[in-house]
Amino acid sequence: MKNEMDKTIIENHSRRRFLGAGSAALAAVAVTGLTADAQERANIRKAEHDHSSSNPGQENKTILDENPNSNMPPPTDSGDTVPIWYSFDLTKKRVEEGGWTHQVTEREFPSSRDIAGVNMRLTAGSFRELHWHTADEWAYVLYGSARVTVMNPDGSMFIEDVSEGDLWVFPAGYPHSIQGLGPDGTEFLLVFPQGSFSEDGTFLLSEWVAHTPPEVLRKNFGLDDAALAKLPTGALYIFPGELPGTLDRDKTQIGKALENRLQYTFKMKSMLPTKATSGGEVRIVDSRNFPVSRNIAAGLVTIKPGGMRELHWHPTSSEWQFYVAGKGRMTVFTPVGNARTMDYNANDVGYVPAVAGHYVENTGDTDLVFLELFASDLFQDVSLNNWLRHLPAEVVAQHLNLDAGSIKKIPEEKQVVLK
Ligand code: MN
Ligand code: MN
Repeated sequence: MKNEMDKTIIENHSRRRFLGAGSAALAAVAVTGLTADAQERANIRKAEHDHSSSNPGQENKTILDENPNSNMPPPTDSGDTVPIWYSFDLTKKRVEEGGWTHQVTEREFPSSRDIAGVNMRLTAGSFRELHWHTADEWAYVLYGSARVTVMNPDGSMFIEDVSEGDLWVFPAGYPHSIQGLGPDGTEFLLVFPQGSFSEDGTFLLSEWVAHTPPEVLRKNFGLDDAALAKLPTGALYIFPGELPGTLDRDKTQIGKALENRLQYTFKMKSMLPTKATSGGEVRIVDSRNFPVSRNIAAGLVTIKPGGMRELHWHPTSSEWQFYVAGKGRMTVFTPVGNARTMDYNANDVGYVPAVAGHYVENTGDTDLVFLELFASDLFQDVSLNNWLRHLPAEVVAQHLNLDAGSIKKIPEEKQVVLK
């Protein structure tokens, strides 16, 4: 079906080039439909195109099948953009007893200088060791449930349980922990507003202890030598543990240190949509509705089959995307005349340079779900339709050669997702 569509586009495009050759007779054909002669010439042109794109040499069929829009770009693609596609499924998994992690950072995906992403799994009871790091941490739970803690510098302790579709934010330098809960632990996406971030370069409790003179630890902790001898001598990072008791039991144990002003978790998937249309919906979480999220703004976008995230751009930030489910394609437009189209599947990462025009189209037969992430306190986008309809009609008419009636057909309000 998709290929048929592409063929039609290619044929239409060939026809346009044909007309560009300057035949008045063929220009008339464009209005009245193709004459037999023109149809024959179009067929020849298509046969030439098919032969030009043939590949008698080697092919990695699996990769080609995943990327039809890269292998056979729409004729409107031109020039080149920075890399706009990567996948967690191309990265090395660091597997430990208790879970695993892998990451897409500036090292794997050089165009993404503003954001790095980490995908992590913890089995039931297993810990991501107590740690802290140089960037804020924004997380979206993809599977199962977890118990998280974070301590404010004033000593107040936040603790909460999260499950699929929830998110958390831990500010840079704030110490935190994550533990997989029953029945089967958790998996989550971590996002850091720092392209060079590495999940292997965090500050671990175990390593600090291992690299501090014992006499200093004795003074600091007030422990005797027998207790000091039990401390870990190397990194724990991810390790198996006992399933915790109830959240209420843990809160009681924390007692008066329990944080009761700031909320570090948010139910993103179950919030009411920020905008819903017949084509899908978007849920936006930024510092306006989740005050601790000062450096990451996010949109959770669901596009129904046949729907499309409208032509738009973001005025201040580059966009880092994680594809949660379904199949889609995106074209990114940058000057001068550059356009690149790529296909996206679950577990892929997309990138859009700041202010570059783009759309995301559902090309599958199930919902396309993805996260749009920005290293910013605010989610902001500019809708092309919105702009065209809020200008005086005469201005648009003279740019696009459209009459007033046609301009009125363009959706006036920002739809975000179109059917
Ligand atoms: Mn962390
Ligand atoms: Mn966007």
